[in-house]
Amino acid sequence: MVIDVLTSSSQGNCYKVAQDDSSFLIEVGLPLQKIKKKLGYTLSKIDFALCSHIHFDHSKAAADILKNGIPLITSESTAAALKLNSHNLITFPDDNAKPIKIGSWQIVPFKLLHDVDVPCHGFLCQSLVVNETVFYASDTKILPPLSDRTAKSITHMIVEANHSKVLVQQNVLEGKLDKSLGIRIMRSHMAIETLVEWLESHRFDNLQEIVLCHLSDKNSCAETIKKTIMATMGVLVRVA
Ligand SMILES: [Zn+2]
Repeated sequence: MVIDVLTSSSQGNCYKVAQDDSSFLIEVGLPLQKIKKKLGYTLSKIDFALCSHIHFDHSKAAADILKNGIPLITSESTAAALKLNSHNLITFPDDNAKPIKIGSWQIVPFKLLHDVDVPCHGFLCQSLVVNETVFYASDTKILPPLSDRTAKSITHMIVEANHSKVLVQQNVLEGKLDKSLGIRIMRSHMAIETLVEWLESHRFDNLQEIVLCHLSDKNSCAETIKKTIMATMGVLVRVA
C-alpha cells in the first residue's frame, strides 16, 4: 500500500491511497483543478473518494468529484449540509455505520469528536486483495478505542497530531496565542499527548507506517513529535 500526501494543512487536506491498480482519495479539500494537477492532470485512476466532514479544507471538491463520475462516500448529514446530490453519492448514517464494500476495498466509518455541528468521521479502509488496512482519523479531540482484532489488522495510519498541550498552554501564557483560540484548538483537535496515550494502549502488531497529519506550525514541533512516536512505536513515521 502506498500513501501519497497531496496536501495536509488547514488550507486543504487530500491523501491518495493506492494498492496495485486501485486507488482512492481520503478527503477532497482542494479545488478539483488543484487535485487534478497533483495527480498528473487525470482522475482516471481514482476509484472513489472519502470525505470526513463539512469543513472546506476537507470537502471543497466534493460536488465536483461527483460531477466527474467518481463515487464519494460521506455521512448522510455531511452530504445534506453540503447539498450533495448525485447517483455517485454513497452515504452512511452518523452512528453505527455498516461496512461499505467498494471495488477491492471495505470502508468502515466511525464517529470522531470535532467542533462542527455535523459530525466528523474517520475511516478504516481494508484492502480485500491483500492483508493491509489503513486507519484514518483527523480533526478530532479523541480517537476511538479499538478491538484487539482491529488494532492488529491495521498496517498503515494517517492520523492527526495537531498540537502539544504543553506548547499551547505555554504560548497562551506568553501571549503568543489568543486564549480562546488555544481553548478551541484543544477542544477540537488531537493533542500529541492524547495520540501517544492511544497508541500505547493498543497492540498494533502489524503496523508498518504512521503518517502524521494536520500539524500546527506554532503549537507543535514536528521533528520532536516524529521522534517521540518512532521511539514509542518502532515504525516508520512521516510528517505530512
Ligand atoms: Zn475541521
